[in-house]
Amino acid sequence: MTPNAICTPPHDHDTYRWSMVVDLDKCIGCSACTAACYAENNIGVAGLEQVLKGREMSWLRVERYLDSDYPEKTTFLPMLCQHCDNAPCEAVCPVYAPHHSKEGLNNQIYNRCIGTRFCSQNCPYKVRRFNWFTWETPSPLNLQLNPDVTARSKGVMEKCSFCIQRIKFAHGIAKDENRPVRDGEIQPACLQSCPTGALIFGNLMDPGSRVRKLAADPRAYQVLGYLNTKPAVIYLKKVLPEI
Ligand code: SF4
Ligand code: SF4
Repeated sequence: MTPNAICTPPHDHDTYRWSMVVDLDKCIGCSACTAACYAENNIGVAGLEQVLKGREMSWLRVERYLDSDYPEKTTFLPMLCQHCDNAPCEAVCPVYAPHHSKEGLNNQIYNRCIGTRFCSQNCPYKVRRFNWFTWETPSPLNLQLNPDVTARSKGVMEKCSFCIQRIKFAHGIAKDENRPVRDGEIQPACLQSCPTGALIFGNLMDPGSRVRKLAADPRAYQVLGYLNTKPAVIYLKKVLPEI
């Protein structure tokens, strides 16, 4: 099979194809996005001992690329599920737990998942997280759990959903007002907490959306784009100083 082979048929996205643009020139690596994601999505806190065993639960990690000779070149890269159009995770699940929505989301259907972890092995971006335990949230921390997000238990795979609960909420308001969802109306938790405006979210099918315009920027690229996964997350290259 050639590197460009299409493993799954392309999907039609008539009205919406949700996308995130990450401007690496604005990211300062503060990890506010990661913390907000934990709080919004009821993510289990694994702790040092489990993280050292590879059982980290974070849906969004901030990767650091260092050049010790040129610290000015240090680059931070927020990595999350890329909501691939040709998603390698979807093709290998025996029970179809990873599901491609008509709006381009790679949804994880928790009550289908039987925990084979094939999807995690086949994800080139390594963004899927397996629940080795049913995580405890001792009182009073249980009071901050988000009632809009499904609880997950031991044996189930999870990952970034693009804050689907917020997408659904915006759809509900738009439907009541008999209009489409507006550009900028949906703010995933990571974007909402980013102090530098490095994250932009919107509809790639809308020619006037910010993400659509930024996707045409000369700095735009897709991580591991040569794998033909067709990610919905588009990165803008960091502008490096002349050294
Ligand atoms: S980034 Fe990984 S988990 Fe997300 S859709 Fe692509 S293959 Fe699946
Ligand atoms: S919150 Fe913004 S600046 Fe901070 S690490 Fe995340 S994307 Fe980068």
